Amino acid sequence: MGVVVSGKDLAKTLKDGMAIEVVELEKKYGRLPHLAVILVGEDPGSVSYVKGKEKACNEIGIKNTTIKRTSDITEEELLSIVEELNNDDDVDGILVQLPLPKHINTDKVIESVRFDKDVDGFHPMNVASLYLKQPGVVPCTPKGVIKLLQSFGCQMEGKKAVVIGRSNIVGMPVSKLLLDNNATVTITHSRTKNLAEVTREADILIAALGKPKFVTADMVKDGAVVIDVGVNRNPENNKLCGDVDFDNVVDKVSYITKVPGGVGPMTICCLMENTIECFKKHMGE
Ligand code: NAP
Repeated sequence: MGVVVSGKDLAKTLKDGMAIEVVELEKKYGRLPHLAVILVGEDPGSVSYVKGKEKACNEIGIKNTTIKRTSDITEEELLSIVEELNNDDDVDGILVQLPLPKHINTDKVIESVRFDKDVDGFHPMNVASLYLKQPGVVPCTPKGVIKLLQSFGCQMEGKKAVVIGRSNIVGMPVSKLLLDNNATVTITHSRTKNLAEVTREADILIAALGKPKFVTADMVKDGAVVIDVGVNRNPENNKLCGDVDFDNVVDKVSYITKVPGGVGPMTICCLMENTIECFKKHMGE
């Protein structure tokens, strides 16, 4: 049976370290790092993600403000809130919780966030920095995946990594980070032919497609490392589950993450880290 890697435990260790660092930063600069989150509407998923972010900020000691607006907010109003936060010297990180209502142009809003306060790493400047290997904000979920792999000494160099999914938020950036760690990376998607043949080749398999229990045991190589990014509702019992059929895959692998308690807590942890990094840059470090 494979080792179940706990993102929850790793995130706790990292957050404990950040809590100590934040105390020192306050002594040095006379104020705390500050994350501002904009929440539009009442999508239950978004409300719960934002609560998780507030909780993590409070655990670490990061100042946090949540600005809530109803889903009938105009694009202009939303852009003016972002602008105000961009110009507020007391705010280090700005996060606009996605998805936004359909009448709002999400790309326009993402681009309106000052790139050096863009703690999600979604601004085109930060995307470009990632692909050009220049300093910038690295998106939280891909960053968390790499930290999970590093936490158990996973050697990425020379390994075959297969990523299922090519979204801008997960699949593409995690592929780039694996490549930067010298893995040989294959990116797969909904039009990939014979997907199972490709995934069976993977020493490291990252599932990020958003389909409950999609990755079955026959798709996984013996001894592979499997990281499950998916967050889905299991149609059988409505409980949270990943993209991997964990119960049947766990016996085949060397290391695996579980949902919940795997990548999710690492995403929030990396958001906290990005906020502290943005703060330090604002302070001239
Ligand atoms: P997304 O934007 O919907 O992208 C899904 C990707 O999977 C697309 O590239 C799609 O291919 C591919 N795909 C869909 N069905 C497939 C199939 N049958 N075979 C192969 N590829 C397939 O989703 P996302 O934002 O990347 O999120 C993916 C999952 O991760 C979701 O469950 C989401 O909730 C979860 N997530 C978790 C965290 C976390 O912190 N744990 C953070 C972000 C996302 P095409 O490009 O061809 O359409």
